[in-house]
Amino acid sequence: MSRKLLTFNGGVHPEGHKDVSNATPIRLMPLLPRYLVALRQHIGGPARALVQAGDTVLRGQMIGAAEGYVSTAVHAPTSGRVLAVAPHEVPHPSGLADLCVVIESDGLDQAIEFQPLDWQALNPSALRNRIRDLGLAGLGGAVFPSFIKLNPEGAGIDTLILNGAECEPWITCDDRLMRERAAEILQGVAVMRHMLGAREVLIGIEDNKPEAIAALRAAVANEAEVVAVPTLYPTGGGKQLTYILTGRETPTGGRSTDVGVQVFNVGTAYALYRAVVLGEPMLSRVVTVTGHVATPGNYEVRLGTPVTDLLAAAGGALPGATGELVGGPMMGFDLEDRASPITKAVNCLIVKDRAHFPASPLILPCIRCGACARACPADLQPFEMYWFARAKDFGKSQSYDLFDCIECGCCTYVCPSHIPLVDFFRFAKSEIWERERHKQDADQARARHEFKAFRLEREKREKAGKLAAKVAENKARDAAAALGGAETASDPEAEHKKAILQAALERAKKAKESVTPQNTENLPPAVEKQIAEIEARRAGAEITQPETGNSPS
Ligand code: SF4
Ligand code: SF4
Repeated sequence: MSRKLLTFNGGVHPEGHKDVSNATPIRLMPLLPRYLVALRQHIGGPARALVQAGDTVLRGQMIGAAEGYVSTAVHAPTSGRVLAVAPHEVPHPSGLADLCVVIESDGLDQAIEFQPLDWQALNPSALRNRIRDLGLAGLGGAVFPSFIKLNPEGAGIDTLILNGAECEPWITCDDRLMRERAAEILQGVAVMRHMLGAREVLIGIEDNKPEAIAALRAAVANEAEVVAVPTLYPTGGGKQLTYILTGRETPTGGRSTDVGVQVFNVGTAYALYRAVVLGEPMLSRVVTVTGHVATPGNYEVRLGTPVTDLLAAAGGALPGATGELVGGPMMGFDLEDRASPITKAVNCLIVKDRAHFPASPLILPCIRCGACARACPADLQPFEMYWFARAKDFGKSQSYDLFDCIECGCCTYVCPSHIPLVDFFRFAKSEIWERERHKQDADQARARHEFKAFRLEREKREKAGKLAAKVAENKARDAAAALGGAETASDPEAEHKKAILQAALERAKKAKESVTPQNTENLPPAVEKQIAEIEARRAGAEITQPETGNSPS
């Protein structure tokens, strides 16, 4: 029985241009003399460099370790010598440089010993840590560290979706991978299913890829269902594909895991197969090189390959080329520098020409036609978000669910006024993040300042208390000395003085004992929280020994 498929609102039908690059098998890039491995190739913190200039490395050797929880490792793509660990241009919308390990190849391409993982026997936490150290990140574009998405704890995942939609025009790397390496992809899927405990596996592929659908259907047994979904951009969005295949709607501000679904790209499944079954770290990926280039096609490229070399392998740009686009025309960005290296995030390189990528038309005022809202697959109101983002009223922009925007570009695509709406949304999001970061920094600085003031005040009071006690004690002692040894037990006046003296000594003693902080009331909540944390740490340190063994997973 065929599965009942749903349709999300909005979406567009841009021209595919898939046939430019999908007709030939994946080609292997030759070994290069030089690689530039970016330490930040994923969402989250950059990897921490483990090598320095002058070190020798082997293919597969970890040269950057995951730093922080949302991070993953990077590895040497070949054997050779580290020339530098230094900032270099990387393919990123910001156009900013990032830290790269520059490796000069020795031409031998010697590898470390790859150790396949006994994934069915390893405990889940250990398996995830190994996957983190093998550098796995999502290859569909988001490059989220895979070991985090493979943690089912508390998520209640019952369905695993393999995303083979590849809905963005021009890109065909997933199509070729599915046609040529279906069995390996399914081995990766088996590992994912095992780790997530998913009951059902669905593989969604747009119906404009009949060869890929046939290849996966031929390779799959009963472990998964291969579903052909209608071609409509952006079917490959995680929330959209989840809805089409399962009918489950991801809540506003939520993820597909909130409705029991985890989504992975087919390229990630293939990389997981290589990591777990072959023991090979993430060293390469398939990249589509297409557009105005001599030999368009798909290339298996070592991470760190300079774009210049990849273009040369594809025969070079043709006369009339006007630049390169990283990713597709809907969500991609212009490449700033051809010396930039290929990273885990780069799935496609389009060499532009005027015929397919004409100069940006004149931007006209919004006529409030509503076309953008009708095209939006996230049911947003782009013209409202745009209006407030343009006015830099980011709070208002956010109130229109700005962060539910998946930056698919459908609104920009249909806008008759040629307004680059997505650029405004990216700008608004980055401004909000920046302000949030500043606010957090300021809050922390304020809390630090208030805590310091509190500590100084407490010390002042403690000192004053101790001084007062000392003065009282001295006074009492002086009085005792004045009495001398004249009094006797039978002298009532001496007895009275002795009692007064004793009382003064008692008061001095009590005053000394009761010197405690007096200014712990009416403190700001941040300071109270900080004090409570310190007290808790102190209490913990007093009663427990440090634990060993359990690293975060
Ligand atoms: S499509 Fe363009 S012109 Fe029409 S409402 Fe949206 S932003 Fe305005
Ligand atoms: S870019 Fe954002 S606002 Fe525009 S159509 Fe896509 S999801 Fe909607």
